[in-house]
Amino acid sequence: MSDECIFCKIARKEVPTQPVYEDHDLLAFDDIRPVAPVHVLIVPKEHMVNLNDAGKNDVPLLGKALRLAAKIADERGVAESGYRVVVNNGEQGGQIVPHLHFHLVGGRPLSPGLG
Ligand code: AMP
Ligand code: ZN
Repeated sequence: MSDECIFCKIARKEVPTQPVYEDHDLLAFDDIRPVAPVHVLIVPKEHMVNLNDAGKNDVPLLGKALRLAAKIADERGVAESGYRVVVNNGEQGGQIVPHLHFHLVGGRPLSPGLG
């Protein structure tokens, strides 16, 4: 946990949010600035900056986050139409919030490939 980290604050309920999903180690909520009709963030409650911090012990958690992305995609009705799951890592990876999170984006055609 980090005192100043916005996603730690959300995980600690110091910043209110409407969880899409929550259990003891993962939290999912809608992105505050959605880039598509479906834009959900899946966030491990434990503070890790990005995938560089994820160790062998975190493999089940990472797998669970990806499975959760597919489940939420289904619940939001985009499983069949298609969606993207993205992790931005570090400055050149476009990461702004330094707490590991998975973007689930869908509900409109996304450009093929990655920019
Ligand atoms: P990234 O570039 O991968 O670090 O993306 C961070 C994402 O977090 C952006 O899409 C922001 O819109 C989103 N975000 C930042 N603060 C909040 C917040 N308080 N609640 C929900 N989403 C947020
Ligand atoms: Zn954090």
